[in-house]
Amino acid sequence: MTDQYLHPERYARSLALYEEALKVIPGGVNSTARAAFSGWVPHPIFAKGGKGSKLTDVDGNVYIDYLLGLGPAIFGHCPENITEAVVEKIRSVGTVFAMATEAEVGLAQQIISAIPSVETVRVLNTGTEGVLYALRLAREFTGRSKVVRFEGQYHGFSDGIYWSKHPDLESAGPDDHPIAVPQGPGVPAEMGKSLIIAQWNDLAMIEEIFAHHGDDIAAIITEPIMCNTGCILPEPGYLEDLRQICDRYGSVLIFDEVITGFRIALGGAQSKLGVTPDLTVMAKGLGGGFPVAALGGRRDIMDLATNGKVSIAGTYSGNAIAVASAIASLEYLSTEATYDTLYQHSDRLREGLNSLMRAKGVPGAVVGMGPVFQVWFTNEPIRNYRDAARHASAEQFRIWFEEMLDRGVLFHPGHFENLFLSFAHDEQDIDVTLAQASESFDAVLARSRQLV
Ligand code: PMP
Repeated sequence: MTDQYLHPERYARSLALYEEALKVIPGGVNSTARAAFSGWVPHPIFAKGGKGSKLTDVDGNVYIDYLLGLGPAIFGHCPENITEAVVEKIRSVGTVFAMATEAEVGLAQQIISAIPSVETVRVLNTGTEGVLYALRLAREFTGRSKVVRFEGQYHGFSDGIYWSKHPDLESAGPDDHPIAVPQGPGVPAEMGKSLIIAQWNDLAMIEEIFAHHGDDIAAIITEPIMCNTGCILPEPGYLEDLRQICDRYGSVLIFDEVITGFRIALGGAQSKLGVTPDLTVMAKGLGGGFPVAALGGRRDIMDLATNGKVSIAGTYSGNAIAVASAIASLEYLSTEATYDTLYQHSDRLREGLNSLMRAKGVPGAVVGMGPVFQVWFTNEPIRNYRDAARHASAEQFRIWFEEMLDRGVLFHPGHFENLFLSFAHDEQDIDVTLAQASESFDAVLARSRQLV
């Protein structure tokens, strides 16, 4: 595995800041995904700021940005209308009131009309909170305790679900009976007992799990597209089958649309794929780069929060910054944003990368849907986390990342993460990216030969 940047002098200021940061911030960064151990080796790169589809780092390098803050910058950086709406709001009225506001009612109405399965909705701050509350509601609604989650997905960092994201296969149990593995230390072991771990895209496994534990299962939680292991698509009929099995056993189907919501379509992946969950968690696409999330769904389940039977709380939930940003984003997404153009750009990039790989004989393919995808360096089919862990080459991905970074194209160094397109990316961005990719794929081939 390579662990250097190709031209370290290009990132000298980042390195200097990182050394400073290490003295005062554990790991020098404020989130796991930005840390050296998450792929940013030999050191994280420090951002200066962004505008539209471009991001500039502290050394003055300018990138076409496919990292997009890990998804929230759906309009690119500094979107004028959203920024104006937020600034105007906080200047004129303030930020937190610990009282309800008229704006929150309007936002709830907007979310409900965007996502048909959402009958009522609570606004929150992070995806983690949304998932935590969704599980709490599902458990109370069904009177059951167990939750089915899939290996390779991520649903935030709360103790009850921070399990089996990317477990070491040595300790994750046999393929046909995966076991719950805490994603890190500090998570109480007992929490794992309420989880049943399944592999994605394997209906027989879900049938077997429900045959044994169906009456104890409160919920299945799933990303409708598995964005936290590259970008694995559901096989035809799979989500429909999950829906059907939940109906059969009286379990709650939770879609974690933190990444896919408002991005795959205004109505989320559920509208594109035609499967209706009971509860939906939304976050990254909602606020145009501002911190806001939401949990919504069936009225009868959400109603458990009505009289405080199930508490959904938060000092900052529904604060004026979050609400103003989400109102402005949804206004734009439902009127001016052209998902068709977003898809045209995304499809051109994906197909362009695929044909470059084929033409040059680079093993692999680009997988995903619309503006979210990943490049796998393997010719083996990938249906679930274990396929990805076994077959996708992290070494080749790392070379591709380094080569693209040096050529001014930014995305996360981890091959289980995603590339994101925003509404700000244009034809020229795609042309430049494909030209840089062509050279980078040559380098992947040449440098891979040296690896063996
Ligand atoms: N669910 C999914 C599918 C996610 O990708 C993430 C974050 N990457 C989360 C939940 C957690 O969201 P947050 O970081 O806002 O807590």
